Amino acid sequence: MEKFQPVRGTRDLIGEDFRRHQAVVDTARQIAALYGFEEWATPIFEETRVFSRTLGDTSDVVSKEMYSFEDRGGDSVTLRPEGTAGVCRALVSNGLTQSNLPRKVFYAGPMFRYERPQKGRYRQFHQIGCEVLGAAEPLADAEVIACGYHILKALDVAEGVVLEINTLGDTPSRDAYRAALIEYFKAHAEALSMDSQVRLDKNPMRILDSKDEGDKKIVASAPTIAEHLTPEAAAFYAAVKKHLDRFGVPWRENPRIVRGLDYYSHTAFEFITDRLGAQGTVMAGGRYNGLVEEMGGPATPSVGWAAGIERLSMLLEEPPAADRPVAVVPMGAEAEDAALDMVQALRLSGVAVDIAYKGNFKKRLERANKLNAIAAIIIGESELAEGMAVVKNLDAGTQVRVPADEVMPALAEIGVDGAVFDELMDDMGEGDEEE
Ligand code: ATP
Ligand code: MG
Repeated sequence: MEKFQPVRGTRDLIGEDFRRHQAVVDTARQIAALYGFEEWATPIFEETRVFSRTLGDTSDVVSKEMYSFEDRGGDSVTLRPEGTAGVCRALVSNGLTQSNLPRKVFYAGPMFRYERPQKGRYRQFHQIGCEVLGAAEPLADAEVIACGYHILKALDVAEGVVLEINTLGDTPSRDAYRAALIEYFKAHAEALSMDSQVRLDKNPMRILDSKDEGDKKIVASAPTIAEHLTPEAAAFYAAVKKHLDRFGVPWRENPRIVRGLDYYSHTAFEFITDRLGAQGTVMAGGRYNGLVEEMGGPATPSVGWAAGIERLSMLLEEPPAADRPVAVVPMGAEAEDAALDMVQALRLSGVAVDIAYKGNFKKRLERANKLNAIAAIIIGESELAEGMAVVKNLDAGTQVRVPADEVMPALAEIGVDGAVFDELMDDMGEGDEEE
């Protein structure tokens, strides 16, 4: 039979891959909490118009990357290509647009885009993201960026990652800039890619983000927004940079950053690295002042970013270690019964335990070693008869013989401490008396 394979552009996360992924999410979640972000989970699919109306017709995502389909009821739904639109939709749907603003939201989960798969680019990929909803102040931009930077630091991947920032200005700045860009690109129209010729009419700023090599050459000499900023937009940008300095976040300006989605204004930024080949953007975002209105809510100026978990995982130096269980190894059927009592008592004390379902002593020890067990608890015939157990340190090869109800202290000597259990009991308000 032909072996099934995962769909092109999707990956299974197993072993070290999963642990890398999980370490990114756990770290990001903890740091985001330090900045006051609460976690939300929104559906993985939405009505298609949640994305089509908001991300922009000329964005790559809407024009060619969405996984959209008609469901059995005839409704058009789309697997979310990004997280921000869903979060904004949720703010509106749940009637949260009026109170407790700004609202600071963290999310993590899978996203779907029909792209050409390559290293660091998948069709199902995963993002973490932070959004500050309902804050017009430049301090919000700086704080959400500082949180992102802090996450990169905590993951120990900030080395070689650079924050590039730009401003897309306010509406009058953009209108003036747009006119200047149209004039410039019109003069080079025949040399532009077909995609960019379409963008020229619809959204010329989009051309700045083109990945076409020919376009990039033309973009290199295009006018920048700096000369077209209104005094207000320039002051906003200056304030963001001032606050970033205060937060200790290093940055550099890149006037070419426009971001891949159409909803941004004012601040746009990317954390980039050359350690990932062509897929060098690890975290990206900006200010989006019109998005919540597009969802039928009131004006809710917001700012946020998203980061690719796969790309961050690749940057992690050391994969986080797998948990090491304790293996309980009985010799003979009678000992196995007693071993089950021990297994379950240890698990109730918060110790991760493996017991093989079958096999002789040798086979069971082999399994313990394959699982990288930290210790084996061996119950042989004489141990069974005398109510004893042998606790073997599998790293050192040393062993002690102790009464069966005293294996916990012996395990503690090896560094196994039942921490999970203590935390659980504390949470339940039943913590046993500690120092
Ligand atoms: P790119 O320019 O790489 O296509 P983008 O502008 O489309 O990125 P965003 O929509 O801003 O990306 O998404 C934020 C982050 O999510 C990216 O910086 C990247 O780390 C990650 N990302 C985006 N698309 C993919 C993908 N197909 N596979 C893996 N990660 C992705
Ligand atoms: Mg893209």
